[in-house]
Amino acid sequence: MTTELQTLNFIGGAFVAAASGATDEVVNPATGEVIAEVASGDAADADAAVRAASDAFDSWRRTTPRQRFEMITALADAIEADLPELKRLESLNVGKPVSIIDFEFDLTVDNFRFFAAAARFQEGRAAGEYLEDHTSFVRRDPIGVVVGIAPWNYPLNMATWKIGPALAAGNTMVLKPSELTPLTALRLAELAADILPPGVLNVVSGRGATVGAALVEHPRVDMISLTGGVATGKRIAQLASASLKRLHLELGGKAPVVIFDDADVELAVSTLAEMSYYNSGQDCTAPCRFLAGPAVYDDVVAGMTEAVSALRIGDPFDPETNVGPIVSEAHQHRVAAMIARAAEAGAEITTGGAMVDRPGFFVEPTVIANPAQDSEIVQREVFGPSVSIQRFADEAQAVAWANDCDYGLASSIWTSDVGRAMRLSRDLHFGTVWVNDHIPITPEMPHGGFKESGYGKDMSIYALEHYTELKHVMIRH
Ligand code: NAD
Repeated sequence: MTTELQTLNFIGGAFVAAASGATDEVVNPATGEVIAEVASGDAADADAAVRAASDAFDSWRRTTPRQRFEMITALADAIEADLPELKRLESLNVGKPVSIIDFEFDLTVDNFRFFAAAARFQEGRAAGEYLEDHTSFVRRDPIGVVVGIAPWNYPLNMATWKIGPALAAGNTMVLKPSELTPLTALRLAELAADILPPGVLNVVSGRGATVGAALVEHPRVDMISLTGGVATGKRIAQLASASLKRLHLELGGKAPVVIFDDADVELAVSTLAEMSYYNSGQDCTAPCRFLAGPAVYDDVVAGMTEAVSALRIGDPFDPETNVGPIVSEAHQHRVAAMIARAAEAGAEITTGGAMVDRPGFFVEPTVIANPAQDSEIVQREVFGPSVSIQRFADEAQAVAWANDCDYGLASSIWTSDVGRAMRLSRDLHFGTVWVNDHIPITPEMPHGGFKESGYGKDMSIYALEHYTELKHVMIRH
């Protein structure tokens, strides 16, 4: 294993430059400096990678679950052995503070181990004579070539959420990391090169509109699995409709956090002041849209303002840093502009609110009190270190406001009333409902959206099923 940065695409088991020779600059968001020039693929590279994956499919789909278990487990072990370097690359490329990075990488390794094992436990109805003189059984067959398209906020982790179930189910894959954050995916390719047969996993870097779109439209691709923004999901759904490819879309979020008057406000504030700013708030499930009961609203605003003011922003490699930069200069300006528009629309910024005057792309951790329900800051994903807090009058209004948004990924309820927790678990229209917590996830449980947050589940046995075709075999006798 080299300690040099890998900057080439990984196609058919070999590292190769982009066919055109083009590269994209990769930037350290904590300093603004260019740290690498990475191959920038286009349609030619997409075609080469899809052909490699398609050629590898026939023998990969015939491997036994045990063989796939052994290889995916070996990959998990290799990642675990390489964690110091993988974490260093992710901190360098995404600006993740070293103080928060362990959870994400632990989950990455554990996801591979979960799907390696799950490959051996696929389920179906019992075979039987459901019609006289006919025996029926079901098979779960792999789909074929899966294109995985990953975002920049958890580059390796989101990639492994796709690679794990796709390969475990017997598919082959072409992975396209975000053009902003390709380094850990390419490092993973180096690890996989010694473990997986050539072509089973391919990694092609480059931009969405070029290599991404070419992958989506490629006739030998059978399924697209995207984690990204809603607009990208809609675009990919349009492109994929021409050949009716199967889609798995994990898109944006705007998670409501409903804090009732009977909640443990201290627990809520201490948990949320950390989780809302985790990864600079660049998390699709980030607790960002607080709805607080009439009796606790003032305490929630005061508690969050005090706790968030104490968060330390700065160098991701300083162990004292809580909040790092935003991923890019463009995104930094977008986040700051949304906060500024919230203030112009009449909300109160109780702490933070500005870009930080230092190299790199930092925005102060921000709390916004009392925005209107129909305002941009309440309705649109910020994807930055900012939360809004509204005061609701009663449970009915809390539920109505929580559901009144285009997204449906994640939500949380904070209450000591178990009946209320049950009612809201039913009534909140989101793929995840946490009660008295927000953010923890585990590979055994599904993660995915409702509404414009997309469809299909990551993690869990449901994800594995989504990467298979269900086939009925009926034998007359
Ligand atoms: P993005 O949509 O800009 O990009 C995601 C990926 O799609 C990138 O690799 C990009 O190159 C690619 N892409 C863009 N246009 C494409 C096209 N036309 N064809 C093919 N590929 C294309 O998203 P991002 O800015 O990288 O990530 C942030 C977004 O991801 C946020 O909205 C966030 O909520 C969402 N996200 C969702 C989840 C989830 O599990 N639901 C998890 C993490 C991030």
